[in-house]
Amino acid sequence: MASLIASRAAFAPTKSTVSRVSPKTPQAGEFELIARYFAPLARGFPGAVGLLDDAAYLKAEPGKDLVVTSDALVEGVHFLPDDPPELVARKALRVNLSDVAAKGAVPIAYLLDLVLPWGCDEPWVARFAAGLGTDQTEFGASLIGGDTAATPGPLTIAITAFGHVESGKMLRRGGAKLGDDIYVSGSVGDAALGLLVCRGGLGNLNAAQRSFLADRYRLPRPRTTLGPRLVDLAHAAIDVSDGLVADLGHICDTSAVGAEIDETLIPLSNAARAALKADGSHIVSILTGGDDYEILFTAPAAAADALADISRALDLDLTRIGLIKGGRGVVVKRADGTTRDLERGGWQHF
Ligand code: ADP
Ligand code: MG
Repeated sequence: MASLIASRAAFAPTKSTVSRVSPKTPQAGEFELIARYFAPLARGFPGAVGLLDDAAYLKAEPGKDLVVTSDALVEGVHFLPDDPPELVARKALRVNLSDVAAKGAVPIAYLLDLVLPWGCDEPWVARFAAGLGTDQTEFGASLIGGDTAATPGPLTIAITAFGHVESGKMLRRGGAKLGDDIYVSGSVGDAALGLLVCRGGLGNLNAAQRSFLADRYRLPRPRTTLGPRLVDLAHAAIDVSDGLVADLGHICDTSAVGAEIDETLIPLSNAARAALKADGSHIVSILTGGDDYEILFTAPAAAADALADISRALDLDLTRIGLIKGGRGVVVKRADGTTRDLERGGWQHF
């Protein structure tokens, strides 16, 4: 429309003027923010073009597939306004890297879409970018682009992460086979119990146990070294974000199988064990709470020795918790052999 073009032209002789007057952009100046805080995170990655172009490119390596995943974090839903920005950034990146890992892929790069409340809080952005810097070095993924906008609503962060995996080898939810063993990495339930700690609960644990659990909730450890080693061994895999039972349910639904797990086999940290000893009802949080970001996978019995080697090499527990069976859905067996009824398997937004 000519009039719109004319009025935009009158307002906006240059792109940076647009960034100051456009209702889409924060007051601190979109391009200054990008240059100051985000371009340094793209430095070593040629395809990011210094965040100075319309797009980035990823080299398509021969014999590899790109694995792509995206997760959004919304203030008030996934984090609180006074959470440290470094931690918010690291969590946003890590939940994506966890998906990359669970698909057997090695992380490469990520895009960042940042939707900031009006009147950009530049110190917040600076600390947020510093958190990304710390973690992208640790996990070997570079920022390669994104978008920045302003909103009257809550701060929203969306990250899209890319990884590579040998062609055709991406681990799926849908590959579980009858008779597979079900394994989970690390320990389960810490994040759900950590959330209780953050809300002032679990006062009967000691300070070290409480801070261990709270930390497991605040800062996920994506299993990026484990995931790629499960390619060719695991039949199906998922990361534990919604809750152990819910995520195993996703594997069952997609694979058209059933699962039986033994709750006495679920790997628990010392802190979670102490919480459970003090109050047996915490088993429900352990089974259904989310945010552990461990890898839950199924594998044939023949993979057991190779998995034990990987566990030793990575110094990471891989615990067999049950078996893939016929039927549908997840059955949880108690110590006495009876079946536990769970009203809700895990977290759902809707
Ligand atoms: P366009 O006008 O095509 O939407 P932008 O002006 O939004 O492009 O972005 C300019 C460059 O800055 C692009 O390379 C884009 O990927 C990058 N960029 C914008 N916002 C971010 C961000 N939050 N994080 C990383 N890169 C960003
Ligand atoms: Mg463009």
